[in-house]
Amino acid sequence: MSATPTIYLDGNATTQVDPRVAAAIAEVWNRPGNASSRVNACGREAQRQLATAAEQLASLCGGKADEILWTSGATEANNMAIRGSGAVYREHVMSCATEHASVLESIRALPCSGSEEFAERRILTVGPSGRLSPEQVMRSMTDSIRLVSFMLVNNEIGVIHPIAEIANAIADRYPNTLVHCDASQAAATLPIDVRALGVDMLSLSAHKMYGPQGIGALWIREGVDVRSSMVGGNQQRGRRPGTTPVALAVGFGEAARICESEREGDARRIADLREELLRHLQQGTTGVHLNGDAQFRVAGNLNIAFDDVFAEDLIEAVPELELSVGSACHGNEVTTSHVLRALGTPERLHASIRIGLGRHTTSDEIQRAADVLLRAVAELRALTRACG
Ligand code: PMP
Repeated sequence: MSATPTIYLDGNATTQVDPRVAAAIAEVWNRPGNASSRVNACGREAQRQLATAAEQLASLCGGKADEILWTSGATEANNMAIRGSGAVYREHVMSCATEHASVLESIRALPCSGSEEFAERRILTVGPSGRLSPEQVMRSMTDSIRLVSFMLVNNEIGVIHPIAEIANAIADRYPNTLVHCDASQAAATLPIDVRALGVDMLSLSAHKMYGPQGIGALWIREGVDVRSSMVGGNQQRGRRPGTTPVALAVGFGEAARICESEREGDARRIADLREELLRHLQQGTTGVHLNGDAQFRVAGNLNIAFDDVFAEDLIEAVPELELSVGSACHGNEVTTSHVLRALGTPERLHASIRIGLGRHTTSDEIQRAADVLLRAVAELRALTRACG
């Protein structure tokens, strides 16, 4: 750790917790209460707090409070949506090559895996824009596909998929197909309305929207049967056993409340900062490439490749910036990003960095980040030339 504070630009991996969220959590931490212990006042208060948090989440996504299922994060929500719906046993599933690992691996792990005569896993590819089109999806749809899962916003390249158009086209022709959407990267800056999107299940994660790590939610349209593979108590109406963490849920609810009221302003301001950073970099040097669609892109994401620069060298050369390569979910594994691979631009695989801006990013930080990056890129290129 360096002595001077670093500039946090890894908001796609996890956002900084909003101080108002931290305050709401702190208040609950200091009080006991299990929402399942309804015979005492503490338990009833915990239950009331969970109900309020569910209302706040439902309001954020246009659903109803009793359609919210608390999970440990979007990973669990995605697992439940894909593996927890009885409807998909031995059925066919469609998704996209750029989905998060928790979606792709859930599909791979379906009970049907290994029994190819029963199941088909149709994984769509994308072009250099990284964006699916409804026409492409409809061309690949068949009567036997019972579940599709597409993310609203990609966590590496920030590309926004046309989920409403896709889901509504599917509903028109294949009304029995369930549509799941991982919206965890969208909730901080994009309006989400599950009815307008036309989805049946939607995953959210608190730590992508200035809330705490360790809690997420799956919105499940009333009537859709989804349950956890875990067994235990009867919490959450038996769908997901285990004590729901009240403090985290309260923090998630507060994060949702703030996002709902501030996301429009946040989105404008953050997108302006992102454009300023890109402009600065492109004016400061040559060979700067944006990965993924420039127009249909979430406010807080910039994924760029610099010609003749290794991303890992660049990140090491700028310790004052908290950046990332590929997806943080791969931990220490040295693998190339499956998302960048899917874009079909192999020359950028090792040259791309992800910059995640957020509510707390300032214009001053963006100026400094651009200067620091430009200097490091120039030095690394000079070194490469000198080494011949
Ligand atoms: N989906 C997407 C799109 C994500 O970005 C992430 C986090 N990297 C997840 C799912 C997993 O979320 P969580 O960390 O809450 O399990």
